[in-house]
Amino acid sequence: MKVCFDTFGCRLNRAEALSMEAGFLARGWKVASSHAEADLIIVRGCSVTAKAQHECERLLEHLKEKYPAKRVIATGCLKQKRNEALLRDLDMDRIPLSTTRAFLKVQDGCSSNCAFCIVPQFRGTARSIVFEDVLEQAKRFFDAGYTEIVVTGCNLSQYNSKGRRIAQLAAALAALDGRRRIRIGSVEPGPAAAELVDAMAANANICRYLHLPVQSGSNTVLSAMRRPYKVQDFEEIVDTARKAMPFVAIGCDLMAGFPGESEHDALATRSLTMRLAIARAHVFPFSERPGTAAALMAGKILPALRAERAAALQRIADEERTRYAKRMIGRVVEIVVEDEENVAGWTGEYLWCRLRHEYATAIGAKRRDLVKIRVQKAEGHVLAGTPVFE
Ligand code: SF4
Repeated sequence: MKVCFDTFGCRLNRAEALSMEAGFLARGWKVASSHAEADLIIVRGCSVTAKAQHECERLLEHLKEKYPAKRVIATGCLKQKRNEALLRDLDMDRIPLSTTRAFLKVQDGCSSNCAFCIVPQFRGTARSIVFEDVLEQAKRFFDAGYTEIVVTGCNLSQYNSKGRRIAQLAAALAALDGRRRIRIGSVEPGPAAAELVDAMAANANICRYLHLPVQSGSNTVLSAMRRPYKVQDFEEIVDTARKAMPFVAIGCDLMAGFPGESEHDALATRSLTMRLAIARAHVFPFSERPGTAAALMAGKILPALRAERAAALQRIADEERTRYAKRMIGRVVEIVVEDEENVAGWTGEYLWCRLRHEYATAIGAKRRDLVKIRVQKAEGHVLAGTPVFE
């Protein structure tokens, strides 16, 4: 029997897909490379925006029409009846090697109540996977040949296993094997992120990429969003991170056109993106999710203006990303090889980097190898360079 996965949305969904895949493999299933050859199709959906939900629903309709005899299961963050019974008790007896990097889920749910967010309604309140169990699973990923573990969760800043938080978990994971690397997913700006910065500074094999979903550069908007921090808190964390790790890449999520966002607020977000030289930004125009407080808020911004503000932010974010990439020229970065032919992959700072063509064939690197590269040029935000042997 063969199973096929379609995974939308965030890394948490990918981590859960990997875990499900392991469960199927352990039960003797094979992974199909197309819908046509699958006996079972699993769609791991995403409802974070109306657009994402619409795309998942379109795929589900298409599958129902094209393969009426096949079993299709919708799961993940989808407003559908979840098929938990069938998926219960899946374990990781066999580690799947379908991805280049291992996605490790350490936490689920969220106990916050952001005005725009539907996620807690799908995922419930915050729960954490026991610290020791996470380490055990990470060891098994490393033993299977993974060189990077991406730590994911619904809200990693709420990770808590008997008082041990995300920073301690990151440090313990990094200590498992100093030659492999740990990437920490998005962490809400706040005390957990500040602790994480210290753990990153103390452990060179935690990727130099810090993703803080600040959402807005205006305290008025943050308060309307019910985000529990101020712009100044975010700036302070970034500042501490830069002092400890001058080349750390700062990533963030930015939302444009939240109800009540004035032109002044929108400018404040653009200014923050430039001032803090954000290296990677996910920009979203606000979209009403029925069932959230923001969907009923006054002061709605016209969709065209939301899109315009999002585009302006994206332009600035792209420029900052290019500027950041240029700063890497002359430095040594490390990639996890995804593309064997060109010896290319993501650096710890989340920039795509490849070996110069003349070296790529000579090196002959394999998928998942860690390769050190001295950066010689940046085309846009894509890096290229020569191999470094130690
Ligand atoms: S912190 Fe806010 S935005 Fe993030 S999952 Fe929780 S409720 Fe949603």
